[in-house]
Amino acid sequence: MAELRFRALQEVFSRQPIAVENQSNEVSEYFAERVFDKPKMQKYLSREAYLSVTRAIEEGTAIHRKIADQVASGMKAWALEFGATHYTHWFHPLTDGTAEKHDGFIEFGDYGGSIESFSGKLLAQQEPDASSFPSGGIRNTFEARGYTAWDVSSPAFIVGETLCIPTVFVSYTGEALDFKTPLLKALAAIDKAAADVCHYFDKNVNKIIPTLGWEQEYFLIDTALFQARPDLILTNRTLMGHQSSKDQQLDDHYFGSIPERVGAFMKDFEMEAYKLGIPVKTRHNEVAPNQFECAPIFEEVNLANDHNQLVMDVMKRVASKHNFRVLLHEKPFAGINGSGKHNNWSLMTNTNVNLLSPGKNPKGNLQFLTFLVCVVKAIYENQDLIRASILTAGNAQRLGANEAPPAIISIFLGSKLTATLDEIVEKVTDSKMTPDEKTELKLGIGKIPEILLDNTDRNRTSPFAFTGNRFEFRAVGSSANCASAMIVLNTAVADQLKKFKIDVDAIINKGVKKDEAIFQVVKKYIVYSEKIRFEGDSYSEEWKNEAAKRGLTNITSVPESLALYLSHKAKKVLIGNGIFVEKELEGRVEVEFEKFTKKIQIESRVLGDLAINHIVPTAIQYQNTLIENVSGLKNIYNEDEFNELAGARKELIKEISEHISIIKAKVYEMVEARKVANKIENQKNKAFAYEKNVNPFFDKIRYHIDKLELIVDNEIWPLPKYRELLFTR
Ligand code: ADP
Ligand code: MG
Repeated sequence: MAELRFRALQEVFSRQPIAVENQSNEVSEYFAERVFDKPKMQKYLSREAYLSVTRAIEEGTAIHRKIADQVASGMKAWALEFGATHYTHWFHPLTDGTAEKHDGFIEFGDYGGSIESFSGKLLAQQEPDASSFPSGGIRNTFEARGYTAWDVSSPAFIVGETLCIPTVFVSYTGEALDFKTPLLKALAAIDKAAADVCHYFDKNVNKIIPTLGWEQEYFLIDTALFQARPDLILTNRTLMGHQSSKDQQLDDHYFGSIPERVGAFMKDFEMEAYKLGIPVKTRHNEVAPNQFECAPIFEEVNLANDHNQLVMDVMKRVASKHNFRVLLHEKPFAGINGSGKHNNWSLMTNTNVNLLSPGKNPKGNLQFLTFLVCVVKAIYENQDLIRASILTAGNAQRLGANEAPPAIISIFLGSKLTATLDEIVEKVTDSKMTPDEKTELKLGIGKIPEILLDNTDRNRTSPFAFTGNRFEFRAVGSSANCASAMIVLNTAVADQLKKFKIDVDAIINKGVKKDEAIFQVVKKYIVYSEKIRFEGDSYSEEWKNEAAKRGLTNITSVPESLALYLSHKAKKVLIGNGIFVEKELEGRVEVEFEKFTKKIQIESRVLGDLAINHIVPTAIQYQNTLIENVSGLKNIYNEDEFNELAGARKELIKEISEHISIIKAKVYEMVEARKVANKIENQKNKAFAYEKNVNPFFDKIRYHIDKLELIVDNEIWPLPKYRELLFTR
């Protein structure tokens, strides 16, 4: 059985870096060459069609059917020139990836023969038989029709020989079945709410563009070793494996020099990303061995998210060319760091002002403080929703595991900004401010950009940290669709900004001047949401106690967290702002419960299979060798000599027996627990049953397997070990 492991290792030893196809070093020569972007639209569309599409992108206006036909034909002409033969609507169903169904451009012509056909109708809408995508009961299989519709705000692109058209995916009765539809709604909600608040400061603002820069962490494992680990193949994480004697304790991987084979992969994958218009910028080694990160220049949220989904795909494809497998799981290896996807987020105006960047003068800074404080309050009020948007079966392994933000949501602002907020609380009075107080305050907040410039304060333990001109939501999981977090964050902040405007207007209506009214509300919010702010070490035990005292929630259970999507409070935000209708939200949560259950179910099956069919037989085989050895000794030596010699070996035989017995018993119990849970119809109860009654066996079984790994002869151990997975390349 160990044959596969050793063959894999041999293969890895003989690997050479794969040379990357020679491409010009000038990225600008091929950047976005596979994207139907504005320059290409200008070339392939009539002026009328071009203007119509750009207006649709910028103002959300509808595109007339006749124009859609023109756009389709222009797009097709471009795609055919590029060698495309098929087209697909590309969408984000509620699974862990994207979906596509390719159709050929070919159609029979009116006079016989075939022509390359692709009409406005096919561009705008498609009806994939969608019955197999998760919908949480929204769409019954007998009413399977769902359709995809073109998202004009994200440009079409070509992957391989297929023209991909970004689309939303909705049921025939109009409910969203994907991530993109609610994301677009959330972005529209924050656009409106933030622009309204901006009008207090600048009447020229008429559009707010939320921005996202994601940092994608991942592991690379050699394909041969990956193939020798059924748990990696089926679950993308290791369900067993004793810690390597050395892993990340020397901190020698982080920012270290990039290994040659990995460097070749990165170069290749970045080039592919550039061709698709994805502005990847940074790459480096992460903390754990074989862990890496890539990050692009930030973009508008919807586009950035499409690009992240695409990047995960591109990475996987390019990696296999280099004999690597990309692990996007949040915790592929126990005992070392897991992977996240930090979401850097901010709000930009059409006048090019970053609303989360301090201005140059007191007025700009009051605007900055307004938005900052509204974000803080939004997070405080919606901590459960924020957590629910990122807590999945995989991410639950990472959160709170001493290297990732805990399941307590808190905000880090840095000492300088904290001091500014304290100052406002101290100086702003609800009665009219004296001219002196006003001047003093204005002088104070006027200094914000200076103090932030040299504010090198960084807190890497906070789940939601202010980093100078944006917030960094660090608790997002590496395999997640960022939309999940972005829907909730943007909606929560939109909701808060609406409330802010109502509160300020109410004071203005009482005859108080605008600036002073804003100050009063800002102060009220600062005081109100103080509890969510934490500057210390979020990984520490003290914080857990302190957070509990503050009344912050700390929920590590995935089903418990998911259930809060349906709390009265959450519904008021998500349904109240028109992001979901009740049925959609319920369907979505149902899908998440089911996804959680299935992940645990699959892992549990794989663990049981490996334990019983790989590990136990190997342990018995080794035990038999020991038994033979002992009986051999018995033949040679007299009883006294034998007892002295064989004692340790007999102990070992017993020890192995004990581990085997426990593994067998626990696997049996786990299977029984699964049987009971499988009978539960209600998805929520089933998820709870899996978490409470099946999940706890994982660590117990693993413990004994990992002990056996240390005892059994290395020559017959069937699975590549941690040191091999993490250090051979
Ligand atoms: P670090 O690891 O120090 O957090 P990185 O350079 O790895 O920094 O990533 C920072 C990310 O934040 C990049 O994707 C960057 O484009 C993004 N970013 C910078 N400014 C903004 C902004 N205003 N809005 C959204 N993202 C931003
Ligand atoms: Mg970062």
